[in-house]
Amino acid sequence: MENSIEYSWPIIPKYKVCEHDKYGIRKKHYVLFKERAHSGFDITADYGTEVKSMAKGKVVCVGFDGTTTEGHDEFNTGYGNRVEILNDDGRRCVYGHLCEILAKEGQIVDNSTIIGKTGCSGGSRVPHLHIEIRKTNTEETGLDYTLNPLDVLPKLDFSKINLEFKTEPYAELWKKMSSEKDPWNFSKEDIWYSEDEQYIR
Ligand SMILES: [Zn+2]
Repeated sequence: MENSIEYSWPIIPKYKVCEHDKYGIRKKHYVLFKERAHSGFDITADYGTEVKSMAKGKVVCVGFDGTTTEGHDEFNTGYGNRVEILNDDGRRCVYGHLCEILAKEGQIVDNSTIIGKTGCSGGSRVPHLHIEIRKTNTEETGLDYTLNPLDVLPKLDFSKINLEFKTEPYAELWKKMSSEKDPWNFSKEDIWYSEDEQYIR
């Protein structure tokens, strides 16, 4: 194991970061509608954007995950289509909510390897990539087991990343989540498509 390896962004962030995207405690989770820890960082993305590995490593797990710690087991909860990579520094990374998985279990990857395409599968309500960096090679998630990806990835000036996400029907929810005034002022009515496989995919 190497002590330090190079990390790079898996996709280039284009859209403004919302409070709901950030690592840490979320005041209101948009699937569970209650306070919940977020063990990763979300990057809103156009459906089908190519995702690269953040570091050198080996693919340890691919496939659909529909389970959450709340005990749900449905098509629209959990990480959705995800890839898990054990990096050469011993950390395990999760890439969630993909529409397509391109990596194979056992594959050796580096920062230029395309491992999948962004989507809105599992517990996603706006197309995005969930990235999670676990401190060790563990299947456990939660704030105790993970790092804030922003502390690991190259620094970005988020004040310059300010495009609005406009793809319907998700844009209405995204607009509320990106509001400066009250980014938690969204409700189930804004997410009427949550059971529809045409949108949660
Ligand atoms: Zn996330």
